[in-house]
Amino acid sequence: MDPTDIPKLIPLADGIHVRQAIDNMGWIDLGGQAIVVDALEQPELEDEVFRAIESTLGDVPIRTVLNTHSHYDHVALNPAFQRRCGADIVSVATTGVPPEGLWFEGTRRRLHFLPMPGCHTREDCIAWLPEDRILFAGDLFGWGIIPLTVNLTAELFDQLVAMYERLIALDAETIVGGHGPLFTPDTLRRFVAYLHELRTSIGAACRAGDSDEAILAAHPPPDDLRGWWRFVAWKHDSTVRNILKATRRRLLE
Ligand SMILES: [Zn+2]
Repeated sequence: MDPTDIPKLIPLADGIHVRQAIDNMGWIDLGGQAIVVDALEQPELEDEVFRAIESTLGDVPIRTVLNTHSHYDHVALNPAFQRRCGADIVSVATTGVPPEGLWFEGTRRRLHFLPMPGCHTREDCIAWLPEDRILFAGDLFGWGIIPLTVNLTAELFDQLVAMYERLIALDAETIVGGHGPLFTPDTLRRFVAYLHELRTSIGAACRAGDSDEAILAAHPPPDDLRGWWRFVAWKHDSTVRNILKATRRRLLE
C-alpha cells in the first residue's frame, strides 16, 4: 500500500505536527503564536485540516503561513488561513525573504526560514527548527527525482549536490519533504551517491558508444532504493533519462 493513501497526523515533538499525505504540511507552536509550513493543493481539505490543527494547537493563534515555494500544490489553503486567522503569508513570492532568512521566535522555540533557491524553483526556502532538529525541505528532495525544473547541466548538478550538503550539515533528526514520507540526512546522502553513480556510469556508457536503449536497460533501480516512495514507478526512470539526455547534449561533462 502507498504510505500516503491515508493522511497521517504525526507528532514530531510537543507542539509540532505534520499532516503527511501526498502533499505535506506542518504546524508549529512557537509559544504564544503558531506557524504553518505549506498549505496543500486541495482547498476542499480546509475543514479537515482546521479540525486537525485545532485538536493539536488548541487556541494558540496562527500568525504566519510559510510557503516553501508557490507551486499550486503548496498554497491552496493560504486564503483560508488569511480569512480564518488573519495570517500573513510569507514566501519569496509574497513578502520576499532576505538571503540570511527570517527568524520567527516564540516562548517555546524558534524557526529559521532560509532561502535556498535554484534547485527546484527560484523561490525555494527551507524551514529549520534548530532546537528540535526538524527540517522542512519543501520540494528540494523528491524521493529520487531531480528537483530541477530546468535542463540539467554540470553547473546545476554541482549546485544540487552543494544544496544537499548544506541540508545534511544541519544534522536534522527528521526531515519533512513537500511530498510523501518523512526522512533523514542519510536519505539525502544516499540520493547524492545515487546521482554521482548514475552520472559516472551513464557518462562511461555514452563514451563507449552504447545506445540509449542499452543504457536504460543497464540502469535498473538500485535494490536498496526500491522501497523509496514511488521511486520505481515514477522517479528512477525519469532521473536516468534526465542524466542521459544531459550527457548526450554534453551538458554534464
Ligand atoms: Zn514544487
